[in-house]
Amino acid sequence: MKKSKGCREQRQLSIYVHIPFCLQKCHYCDFLSFRVSEDEKKQYLMKLQDEIVFFACKYKGEIVTTIFFGGGTPTILKEEELNDLLLTVKESFTVAEDAEITIEANPGTISRQKLKCLRSAGFNRISIGLQSAQDKELIELGRVHTYAEFMEGFRAAREAGFDNINIDLMSALPGQTMESYGETLTSVLALRPEHISAYSLIIEEGTLFWGRYGDTTLHTEGYPLLPSEDEERLMYQRTEDMLSKAGYERYEISNYARKGKECRHNSRYWQRKNYIGLGLGSSSCYDNVRWKNTDKMTLYLTGSPEQYQMEKTCLTREEQIEETLFLGLRLMEGVCLEEFLEKFGKNIHEMYPDVIDKYVSNGCLVIKDGRLKLSKLGIDVSNLVMSEFLF
Ligand code: SF4
Repeated sequence: MKKSKGCREQRQLSIYVHIPFCLQKCHYCDFLSFRVSEDEKKQYLMKLQDEIVFFACKYKGEIVTTIFFGGGTPTILKEEELNDLLLTVKESFTVAEDAEITIEANPGTISRQKLKCLRSAGFNRISIGLQSAQDKELIELGRVHTYAEFMEGFRAAREAGFDNINIDLMSALPGQTMESYGETLTSVLALRPEHISAYSLIIEEGTLFWGRYGDTTLHTEGYPLLPSEDEERLMYQRTEDMLSKAGYERYEISNYARKGKECRHNSRYWQRKNYIGLGLGSSSCYDNVRWKNTDKMTLYLTGSPEQYQMEKTCLTREEQIEETLFLGLRLMEGVCLEEFLEKFGKNIHEMYPDVIDKYVSNGCLVIKDGRLKLSKLGIDVSNLVMSEFLF
């Protein structure tokens, strides 16, 4: 089935499947995840199967090039349950032969046997949540695993044939020092994963950490302190230094990969390509319409898509422009000036003369090879620069 590049591009679709279950809640987590009973899990999986089939009918003719099972902890499910879900996706949608199929996993839920089954069922990328290689820091974070358990899971994934593994890391953790963070990076690099995501801890409202660290007037005595803003910045820079020396390319503000191993699924989010989310609380964006599934389990289980799909919004031209810049500048390749002009009928400089002049002259933005991108300096203050593109 040979098609022109433009035509193929138009018809590509990504699918996100949300599994909102975890063994326990981490202290910093504000994702939609919780513990679940066997009975509720069964009902959820039945509903998810129905949702997959229902949406497959709607998107007939689209070629699915990436699938991402995220959570929560998808690997909390049994291998048969995960494989059934993937099989339903594959049988219901048109999935490209070379589709990237990722599963998020946490140590303690990935036995050798399970990983082998998942690999044979077609999952070809695994993203393992480690966060830190220091057991003390893992305890502070409320993670359920030790570093040794992570190592067991990582080795099992390799043995099962996963040759595309991401490791999730976090910096600016309570009690973390430059030294302990450096040791975490060294340990992870020794494993040669294909991809590393490295985010700074953000203290989110509603989490256990919010009560502890969210309000500086609160009593945090007895708990390890958070690194200072300067230390946080240094940790972020240390990540870049150590990873680039080890042959990883930073392709997004917080994501690094060995050549050709960039996460195709997440890249499609940053490039504003079409994707649909299935499952509780998942988000979708298709042809500039965004919506979100309810995060109320009862409504999700009993309602029709019209009832559980919320906040359906057709993005205005201004919102599309903002998103193009906000998301596109996260990528190191930046935003293509010509594509921008083609899409919005005006060039970026004409639209934002002051912002572009200001940040190009102070060295935070660069225009190179027909693209607008953040410089190394700009990455350090990316939130500030990107917020200036909001209308
Ligand atoms: S494992 Fe991930 S999704 Fe689950 S509670 Fe921890 S941070 Fe949240």
